[in-house]
Amino acid sequence: MSANTIRKAKKLVENGGVVKIEDDLFQIKSSSDPEKSYFVTSDSCECPGFKNFYKFHHGKGLKANCSHLEAIRIFKEETSD
Ligand SMILES: [Zn+2]
Repeated sequence: MSANTIRKAKKLVENGGVVKIEDDLFQIKSSSDPEKSYFVTSDSCECPGFKNFYKFHHGKGLKANCSHLEAIRIFKEETSD
């Protein structure tokens, strides 16, 4: 995963762009369009980057990632205690 993805993810968490809805369901603001948000779980995301990953890397056994999934990971770490 690129450093840019992690940087974006941190920013989303810092700016309050991550809202927990249920145990494994989060609503995360799009970093490119503040009007937009995505529903994200710990292993899936609605954003185009995530969907395209599987389109381009289908069947290679890779796990897709995006700044939103990464944001959840950071969010959980910060709120785990
Ligand atoms: Zn995403």
